[in-house]
Amino acid sequence: MTVNLLDFDAKALTDFCAGLGERPFRARQLLRWIHRRGKADFAVMSDLAQAFRAKLAARAVIEPPPLIDSHLAADGTRKWLLSVGAGNGIETVYIPEAGRGTLCVSSQVGCALACTFCSTGRQGFNRNLTVAEIVGQLWWANRALAQVHEGHAAMELEERPGGQKKERASQASAAKARDRAVTNVVMMGMGEPLANFENVVTALDLMLDDDAYGLSRRRVTVSTSGLVPAMDRLRERCPVALAVSLHAPNDGLRSELVPINRKYPLSELMAACRRYLQSAPRDFITFEYVMLEGINDSPEHARELIQLVRDTPCKFNLIPFNPFPGSGYRRSSAEAVRVFRDVLMQAELMTTVRRTRGDDIAAACGQLAGRVRDKTRRAERNTLEAVG
Ligand code: SAH
Ligand code: SF4
Repeated sequence: MTVNLLDFDAKALTDFCAGLGERPFRARQLLRWIHRRGKADFAVMSDLAQAFRAKLAARAVIEPPPLIDSHLAADGTRKWLLSVGAGNGIETVYIPEAGRGTLCVSSQVGCALACTFCSTGRQGFNRNLTVAEIVGQLWWANRALAQVHEGHAAMELEERPGGQKKERASQASAAKARDRAVTNVVMMGMGEPLANFENVVTALDLMLDDDAYGLSRRRVTVSTSGLVPAMDRLRERCPVALAVSLHAPNDGLRSELVPINRKYPLSELMAACRRYLQSAPRDFITFEYVMLEGINDSPEHARELIQLVRDTPCKFNLIPFNPFPGSGYRRSSAEAVRVFRDVLMQAELMTTVRRTRGDDIAAACGQLAGRVRDKTRRAERNTLEAVG
């Protein structure tokens, strides 16, 4: 049976190599070829013996999810659409900022938690992503960015059977200067990462491994809607930075917006956050708060929040709601967001307002679903037509 080496963390790769009669340092070399150098072809792995490469080629592949499409926005934000089979696509978004490059990674196709303001939640749950599909997002992004860096602004990404390549690179040269490899990962794409625990943690191990992506624990953030038992497991197994999607200051409103609150109410969630901080790489939790006009955005709500978090070291990230067809919600006005932020800041709560990025390529939070399926179908139709 052929295995996909992108599914393996360092330990699994070491075991696999041992099964082929190879010593552990060979697994380390392989790890570097696959993840650090972004290679999918054993033939180019020049420091591995011919015989070992032949054994690998007979038993294994390095197979990221196929790339269907890629976009570059005027502000330098990049987006890749990857196929995960059965007409489904996932998107991964790269956001360049001064001194860092952040990749927003998906963990599931759809999501079962059904938050009312989230287009992924409205789709329902389809399936968990595999380790290869999670890590594959980082693999593609680093590879594409390296190529941009090398001056291939036209993005000559490997053509795959059934794949399309397209890059709206009108401002490629301006963006080129800003691009670099991924330095930060946020698990804030589609899906609830802690509901796909084992695969996400294996992917995190690879993100942190010096021979793979070598990211610092502080620069990898898991965002959760508040699965309390899984937050405890993450703390024990792989404590990375944690963001918690709060969105409401009391149980009544939160249970409406984030239905998992009925199972894990705010008192339990706050206690879990404080436990997490005992092992976290940062000394605060980031609370995400999507600003919904007339729903959760009054100064009263802000004051209630101050009370809620008074024993929990935290920072707030206010997210302007990104509308999608039929959502039934509106984005809070800039003035309402400013007043809300000021109330929190006056209580000495560090608060940032998330800038909406990649508007022209629909790359914002909560916009990554919906049109994905249509687009994937369209891409498949095109492929079928092309194949004849
Ligand atoms: N499931 C995880 C991570 C993915 S969502 C979670 O819920 O935390 C990443 C962030 O985007 C969450 O804070 C989520 O609440 C927010 N989000 C979802 N839909 C949104 C929308 N339409 N506009 C703005 N933010 C949204
Ligand atoms: Fe799932 Fe997060 Fe969307 Fe809620 S906000 S439905 S947990 S992806």
